[in-house]
Amino acid sequence: MDVIQALHTPRTKPPVAFKDLAHRALRRDEFWRRIPAFRNTDARTFHSHVFQMRHSITSVGKLRAAIGDLVSDGFYREVVAGLQHAPMSVRISPYILSLINWDDPYCDPIRKQFLSLRCEQKIDHPELHLDSLNELGDAPVAGLTHRYPDRVLFLVLDTCPVYCRFCTRSYAVGLDTEDVEKVNLRVNRARWDDAIGYIQSRIEVEDVVVSGGDVYQLKADQLEELGNRLLDIDHIRRFRFATKGPAVMPQKLIADDAWVDALTRVVDRGRAMHKDVVLHTHFNHPAEITDITQDGLNRLLSRGIAIRNQAVLQRGVNDDTETMMLLVKRLSYLNVQPYYVFFHDLVRGVEDLRTTLDDGLALEKAIRGTTSGFNMPTFIVDTLGGGGKRDAHSYEYYNRETGIAVYISPVVKPDAFFLYFDPLWRLSRDVQARWQDEVERNKMKAEAIEAAGR
Ligand SMILES: *Cc1c(COP(=O)(O)O)cnc(C)c1O
Ligand code: SF4
Repeated sequence: MDVIQALHTPRTKPPVAFKDLAHRALRRDEFWRRIPAFRNTDARTFHSHVFQMRHSITSVGKLRAAIGDLVSDGFYREVVAGLQHAPMSVRISPYILSLINWDDPYCDPIRKQFLSLRCEQKIDHPELHLDSLNELGDAPVAGLTHRYPDRVLFLVLDTCPVYCRFCTRSYAVGLDTEDVEKVNLRVNRARWDDAIGYIQSRIEVEDVVVSGGDVYQLKADQLEELGNRLLDIDHIRRFRFATKGPAVMPQKLIADDAWVDALTRVVDRGRAMHKDVVLHTHFNHPAEITDITQDGLNRLLSRGIAIRNQAVLQRGVNDDTETMMLLVKRLSYLNVQPYYVFFHDLVRGVEDLRTTLDDGLALEKAIRGTTSGFNMPTFIVDTLGGGGKRDAHSYEYYNRETGIAVYISPVVKPDAFFLYFDPLWRLSRDVQARWQDEVERNKMKAEAIEAAGR
């Protein structure tokens, strides 16, 4: 059919295929009963945040005690060896542990986010630093990064309900590991006072990202006090509480009334003051969303609390069209707005999880149009060295051979170039060798920057 004919032929859409509605099919089974440790745990017990916290897996010993011989000794050896090169300590909630398919743990997309295996690890990129986004360098006071003119990132604490092995903030978040001694960002009144004092003093700041760590770990009264102190600052018009909690421990949203009520009071008070307080969360894979997630999120929605999602693009987790589409559709279905998908930051020991820029851009093109524009995530590169977030498509120059992309960021720092690097192991052997040579490395970077400036 030619174009003209297509325009004039009335068309009806074919009936929807069942697989196109898969995003609505949420798990409702008692999936945790497959885990030996939770075999006899009833739904009421399992769906309590106290149970979830108390039974979190924080060591290989505890993993073995929980899942026993669901996996081989070889798998445990891989985990132990993997941890020796990991920047993050282990912490996995029972909910997440139970969603992993232990029949095939090597391929499971949820396992990949929380447990590193030695056999998967790849050589780190030579340009990789512990604080690759330079959050410490842009911090006027400890735990507060002021990079963009009108908004700040406030790291209120340094613990989370789980520890993701790919965490960008591995410089601070979680316990020290064999590899990394962390910057201390505990809940601390003096530090909070300093940060809030700074926000007060900078009248141009209208927006605060309250993150960590994870605000799930704040006590209800801490959350409320912090929210109220921010609302009390005249020039603050909006802020977000950032938490991975809904993705890894939705039980808290149902069972921890004190916390949810505190959040609700802050949001309500904000609304009365014409200020916008929302929750930002972090789902990466559609399998993290079950009926209990829906119950938890519905509780927030019914209280008028808006929720947005920031996902991290990870190889073998969500870097295929079908999975990312399902994630976007499922989040949209639950009225969680898929705000951003981040290209994976350069983090120690997790190069196996990074994709090339090329692969991620192709994925973005493939999924755009899946749902309403306001629910289509922007794919973001957070540039190295503190250039800030850029639309991944907006590079000035990209050399697929050397794996160097160059961005500018006029608002953050005019006249500077900011780089992003494809994972080394995806480049040709020749180019990999060039990266290991400091002179060649600088030559490749200079060539890219020069090309970008033309
Ligand atoms: C991500 C980030 C923000 C918020 O940026 P948005 O694009 O508004 O989500 C603010 N400050 C820092 C340092 C950040 O990394
Ligand atoms: S929940 Fe967020 S801050 Fe905590 S370890 Fe995971 S990515 Fe890092």
